[in-house]
Amino acid sequence: MRVTGIKILPVTIPRRKELKVAYATRTVYRGFLVQLATDTGLTGLGEAAPNFEVCGETQEGTAAALAAMAPLVRDQDPLERERVLALLEPWRHAHASALAAFDLALWDLAGKAAGLPLRALLGGWRRSIANAMTIGIMPLEQTVAEARAILATGQYAELKLKLGLDPELDVARVRAVRAAAGPGFPLHVDANQGYDREGALRVLTALADAGIDFAEQPVPAGDLEALRWVSERSPVPVMADEALHTPEDALALVRARACSMFNIKLQKVGAGRRRSLPHRLHDRDPGGHHRRGPPGPGFGGRHPRGPGRPRGLGPQPGQGRRPGRRGSVDGLRRPRVRPGTR
Ligand SMILES: [Mg+2]
Repeated sequence: MRVTGIKILPVTIPRRKELKVAYATRTVYRGFLVQLATDTGLTGLGEAAPNFEVCGETQEGTAAALAAMAPLVRDQDPLERERVLALLEPWRHAHASALAAFDLALWDLAGKAAGLPLRALLGGWRRSIANAMTIGIMPLEQTVAEARAILATGQYAELKLKLGLDPELDVARVRAVRAAAGPGFPLHVDANQGYDREGALRVLTALADAGIDFAEQPVPAGDLEALRWVSERSPVPVMADEALHTPEDALALVRARACSMFNIKLQKVGAGRRRSLPHRLHDRDPGGHHRRGPPGPGFGGRHPRGPGRPRGLGPQPGQGRRPGRRGSVDGLRRPRVRPGTR
């Protein structure tokens, strides 16, 4: 199979409602569709959703990156995905969403060539996934009305509440939504880097009994020490989002013991090549010691609550690895990742 044509289509979709988060207010979606045509008649479709605030990508830069990548993909065999993606690797850091668009289109072609839904090709078994609906930053009464309207649809298994501009109001909004949703309904929050570390801890401590599953990126992405400081003290598990783009970021977060959970998005990561995180843990560390895992053996998907032990982290250094544990690879516990978190 050969790629014989590539179409890049800008897409603009007005939002039905604006979405206000700590760093921006969104009224419209702007992205790109990438279509790969082949000599077999099959076509593969991918999408780039550039995000300036999180990934530093502009519409113009993404368009230019897609146009520059296209000649490298044309005439290639799309089933040799690893080789094609290796050609696009230089764009990973500055234009992750453009890389993701080609990655998705190549996977789409792989599924169509195999005559299988991509879910089956990847070994998936679920027929559906739990979806979360996000409530943006808005006044208290409006927040509650929005939550009630979402819950009334019966279509969502989880609520996500955007925070990050007003700590006191945020606590009141979360409490009001919890009251509206009832005690058992899954609820998590996302401050999108809006707090400083003391503000984050104040909010999360005030919400200790509010039944929050986890809190996404409460402090600025570049401040790993603040994330670690909050995660160590917070009664709510802390998830890294904007701080996590690459496998190297994941390693840095693990080594800093800075969070309990990862939020991984195709548009941030760019493409899923076979340079997996557990493999890279076999690399030599900067001190020259060969390791089979990060310093300190656990990355906590669970949230231990024992005294004298940082919350959200695994066993302390010196306690030794626990190899062979179910669900672990070389002592690295898999982070808990929920679909649909943004
Ligand atoms: Mg987030």
